[in-house]
Amino acid sequence: MQANWHNAVAHIDADGFYASCEAVRHPELKGRPICVLSNQNAFVVAKNYDAKALGIKTIMSVHDAKRLAPHAAYLPPDFRFYGQISAKMFSILRRYNPQIEVYSIDECFMDMNGIRTLWRKSYNQIADDIRESVKREIGITVSVGISTTKTLAKIASESNKPDGTTIVPGKRIDRFLADIPGIGHSRAALLCKFNIRTAQDFANTKQSRVKRLLGRLGLTLWHEVNGQSVLPLEMKPPLPKSMARAASMGEITTDRTTIAAHLSRHTLRLVSELVAKKLLARRIRVFLTCKSFEAASVEIHLDFSTNSLKKVSAAVKQAFLALYREGEAYRGCGIVATHISRQESATEDLFGLMHEDIRQQKLMLAVNRINKRHGNHTVAPAAAKLMQNPYSRPSHFQYPVFWRADLIWNKKASEAFCRSYENTGQNYF
Ligand SMILES: [Mg+2]
Repeated sequence: MQANWHNAVAHIDADGFYASCEAVRHPELKGRPICVLSNQNAFVVAKNYDAKALGIKTIMSVHDAKRLAPHAAYLPPDFRFYGQISAKMFSILRRYNPQIEVYSIDECFMDMNGIRTLWRKSYNQIADDIRESVKREIGITVSVGISTTKTLAKIASESNKPDGTTIVPGKRIDRFLADIPGIGHSRAALLCKFNIRTAQDFANTKQSRVKRLLGRLGLTLWHEVNGQSVLPLEMKPPLPKSMARAASMGEITTDRTTIAAHLSRHTLRLVSELVAKKLLARRIRVFLTCKSFEAASVEIHLDFSTNSLKKVSAAVKQAFLALYREGEAYRGCGIVATHISRQESATEDLFGLMHEDIRQQKLMLAVNRINKRHGNHTVAPAAAKLMQNPYSRPSHFQYPVFWRADLIWNKKASEAFCRSYENTGQNYF
């Protein structure tokens, strides 16, 4: 049994942030379901709890949402306004302690060590004060979790939303984790084999077994959920909510290979940015714009946050196959990564980043270096190479590297492409 507060950290997270911001400037919408839409007004990117209660989900198409809740307010997004509210919120939070790690536009971690003495209040009272101040001064609600590590604080705030305070001292960690079912989907089957089903099971697993099953990153999380803080606060700039790569194709086409090639190139560029910035994405949305400018999109929920080209490519391919209609004329396409998190934190999923992803990252960094030195797209997915781009400079040389995920898209063409090189086999990954 460990001491209650050898370290203290808070996770403070706004509830339904974009929709709450809209409620602030539209007081007439109070009590009504609110949905904030994507840039093209195609799907719901955020909703308040009234909308959630009606079954509306984030990334649901507007069409489906309106069927469920015709009386809800559907508003275009205003990211500048959300940014202003976010800045206001963080300035209130910094009054309690300026030592905060801004984790995304609407959430942060706060160092709570010494804060009780400073304010002469318990953690419970401070958390309630923070919630009250934000509510009174801005008009939105936040949920606060306080525990001995960042991971536990985040699990705590998420366990009691909206407008909740959850305090988990060292001695109550075990009891608290017993009620947390969340276990990473990606490793769930493997862990179930060893009878590790809940966060509590995971915390009570032997260290050597965790290391054997999940490696170094699994071990980091194991320490964190056991109350041993190994992830320090990082005072870095906020995370983007989403990252996108999209463009018109410069032609109207019905050709599946051409569209796949454009998507493949977007995928490479997006993944290379994620890796360079040490970020991970949990969801990948692919959209196609028809000749009529009508857009359709499909979102893939990844098993866990990743920046592996192989996994993102596979998700893009899956979405594309679901979207593409034979004979339909398309003019544009793109991909959007959302639920962005930092590689080194990886608290979103209990078992975050796995070995294979680390290998893929190393590879991607090498690809970035080559492309920087020899020109963009020197190393690119085979599918992207099939695209005729009149605007691109010819590169110095074509290095025979192919992404296996892309080979599936146009197997015949890619295989022919591969055969034109010798020794390509060893370059597959
Ligand atoms: Mg939030």
